[in-house]
Amino acid sequence: MARHESGRAKRTLKAWRPRTQMVHGGTVRSGFGETSEALFLTSGYVYDAPEQAEARFKGEDPGYIYSRFGNPTVTMFEQRMCALEGAEAAWGTATGMAAVNAALMCQLKSGDRVVAARALFGSNRYLLDEILPRFGIKVTLVEGTDLDHWKRALKQKALRGTRTGAPGRASGTTIVFLETPSNPGLEIVDLAAVAKLAHAAGAQVIVDNVFATPILQRPMEMGADVVVYSATKHFDGHGRVLGGVVLGPKEFCDAKVMPFIRHTGPSLSPFNAWILLKGLETLDLRVRAASETAAVLAEFLGEQDAVKRVLYPGRKDHPQHALAMRQMEMGGTLISFDVGSKDAAFALLRRLRLIVISNNLGDSKSMVTHPATTTHQRLAPEERAHLGIGDGMVRLSVGLEDVEDLKEDLAHALLGAKSKGKARGRVALQPRGRAR
Ligand SMILES: *Cc1c(COP(=O)(O)O)cnc(C)c1O
Repeated sequence: MARHESGRAKRTLKAWRPRTQMVHGGTVRSGFGETSEALFLTSGYVYDAPEQAEARFKGEDPGYIYSRFGNPTVTMFEQRMCALEGAEAAWGTATGMAAVNAALMCQLKSGDRVVAARALFGSNRYLLDEILPRFGIKVTLVEGTDLDHWKRALKQKALRGTRTGAPGRASGTTIVFLETPSNPGLEIVDLAAVAKLAHAAGAQVIVDNVFATPILQRPMEMGADVVVYSATKHFDGHGRVLGGVVLGPKEFCDAKVMPFIRHTGPSLSPFNAWILLKGLETLDLRVRAASETAAVLAEFLGEQDAVKRVLYPGRKDHPQHALAMRQMEMGGTLISFDVGSKDAAFALLRRLRLIVISNNLGDSKSMVTHPATTTHQRLAPEERAHLGIGDGMVRLSVGLEDVEDLKEDLAHALLGAKSKGKARGRVALQPRGRAR
């Protein structure tokens, strides 16, 4: 697929630092010389002559054919993402889930394997638990924090390869898929170590880097082959549009991702790409500011009687704090904390006056959700308990408000959680049994 790329854009892409890339990366101006990126809200393109149309379909003429698989505004977003991530190629998608699905389904076939960390976003789990197995794809879930589990799971593949007569080689493709930090338990997977194990087993590593964002964590520098994002979250950052992106080696994107998107259609709308381009301009500022506030709030929450436990990668008591600080620049914009029971969590949510109840995240507005009854409702109670998603867990996505206002709101709301906790006597940290 030929793309419009000016020589100037190409040259500067390499030279600029990330914060500059986020403002200028990928910009291609039309003949009108607009300052802001142009919004090409068009589904198709006209040709000067039938010969030109023929040449474009043959890939001999550099130009757009149809916005399902190419649009100048979408290209600008993709190029800016490449510059930011340090990736060779990128494809925008309609949503984050479309990006995850495209990254996997563009290459998997019956008999292949996916080895994935167990702690994942709810829809990622549905894709792995319910959809992939229907197509004969084997899915092995491991404890993402335990390197021995990864080792064992990746070894299984080698054995299978040996049985089919190709010593040490896989009979099918193996893909490693993970999130770090995970949603909502904020588990940290050792990216460099897992990538090394995966590559030794001939597996490709796909990382869902939504929680950390490319500002705080650069998985490709630690060995990831492909990185996927929900652009809906921090990239937009203002809760307006859905979007996603797959980033990876040029060959993979050209040969696998592009035809999959072209012929199945999970494409990013030019309008959404335009919104996302604007979001990226302030991504660095927003993510750093929200992470600073989150670090303060995590400490604040840790001091509250009604809070049984705080999970925040930037806090010293996080089980993998040292690893988190090695592979992330800051602790991130998300905090999970436990108030002991569903009643206490609901009481807290009801009493909040500033922080809104929403399962979205990465927004300029702070948001709370109760994962056990929303994003991770589908999982069996035992599986939730296993993942540490107790009925008392609350996930807070920290926005850009004044930290003092957020503290006051949480302090006021926690009085509700505390009285609920008292009224019911001592509450278990991870209650067993039904969520509802
Ligand atoms: C939200 C989210 C997704 C899915 O993104 P959508 O844009 O909502 O489809 C995938 N992974 C993680 C970690 C997310 O938080």
